[in-house]
Amino acid sequence: MSLLSSVKEASLASAAEVIRLRRHLHANPELSYQEYKTAKFVADTLRSFGLNPVEGIAGTGVVALIEGRNARKKTVALRADMDALPIQEANNVPYKSSNAGVMHACGHDVHTSSLLGTAKILAGVRDQFEGTVKLIFQPGEEKNPGGASLMIKEGVLENPRPMSIIGQHVMPLVPVGKIGFREGMYMASSDEIYIKVIGKGGHGATPELTIDPVLIASHIIVALQQVISRNASPKQPTVLTFGRIHGDGATNIIPNEVDIAGTFRALNEEWREAGLKRIVKMAESIAEGMGGRCQIDLSRGYPYLENNPELTRRIRKAAEDYVGQENVVDMDLTLGSEDFAYYSHQVPASFYRLGTRNESKGITSYVHTPTFDIDEDALKIGPGVMAWMALSELAL
Ligand SMILES: [Zn+2]
Ligand SMILES: [Zn+2]
Repeated sequence: MSLLSSVKEASLASAAEVIRLRRHLHANPELSYQEYKTAKFVADTLRSFGLNPVEGIAGTGVVALIEGRNARKKTVALRADMDALPIQEANNVPYKSSNAGVMHACGHDVHTSSLLGTAKILAGVRDQFEGTVKLIFQPGEEKNPGGASLMIKEGVLENPRPMSIIGQHVMPLVPVGKIGFREGMYMASSDEIYIKVIGKGGHGATPELTIDPVLIASHIIVALQQVISRNASPKQPTVLTFGRIHGDGATNIIPNEVDIAGTFRALNEEWREAGLKRIVKMAESIAEGMGGRCQIDLSRGYPYLENNPELTRRIRKAAEDYVGQENVVDMDLTLGSEDFAYYSHQVPASFYRLGTRNESKGITSYVHTPTFDIDEDALKIGPGVMAWMALSELAL
């Protein structure tokens, strides 16, 4: 039997188990950097496959090596994230979250169970490949500073250093059975901006005795869009969104302060720095010009994510071998962000999408919503496709 057939057979044979693992994880979600039970479950499951996981990396991270023949020849890394979100699940399913207010609404239960399935498949064929597969289960994808950055600091990309790293993410816009790729720039950097506009409150009928922070904040919000329309190159996708504005006045009360908060996203590190500087300068100048002032906090998020073109072409070919060319689709650029980006700035990396949508079953909700779910048929191919990608890389 060919290696591809062995992988496909092993994937189908373990699909029910992978779905059980996913349901266990889904029912027991844990927030970012608190994935204690999840990490233990991952490590125990890896041990049941005969592997020797290292636990406690960057808190709750787990890493395991699957060594084939001639293990030092080369290494490829596969990554899954393990954290859930502060969302109350609204699905009525047997595997519904049992942790109130916490939900696997971004599919990280799927990534983790799928990579466990990949581990089982690869452990079963370790005498049939050369090199090493490094499995990375990381904490905290959903929250700054990003589990990936902490794992890298703790040396996850050394000893052995992988020649490439591959990450998988669910995609509820892509039908189940299909897999999506994009070469080159794929996702944005993302920084959070918190501006406290400080004025002087008073009666709404005597504005001349006040410094109105509501009006100052309004000017700041409108004016900052010029950073996008006049400072960003038209060829350079950028987003500035203020999603929160809070001032505790009333129809006839001018408050002392107004808080506004937003996100700035870019696809170029130089422009990211320049844009943030511009935002700070403009907000401060506008507030000062209008007699008030502002305090600005920037919470730095993840850098842009660029998919290595050669690696992406190779794993796309592997996916075509596995699911057929007709089931491989192109992904568009997105201004979403993802901490897998940190790996992509260190080694050749590729982040692809696993289709999980099924309209006939009513599975259409987007990630980060209380009704997000997947068609679990995705787990009949997810583990095997990733295993085949890793084997194809090692066979280069
Ligand atoms: Zn997410
Ligand atoms: Zn995610």
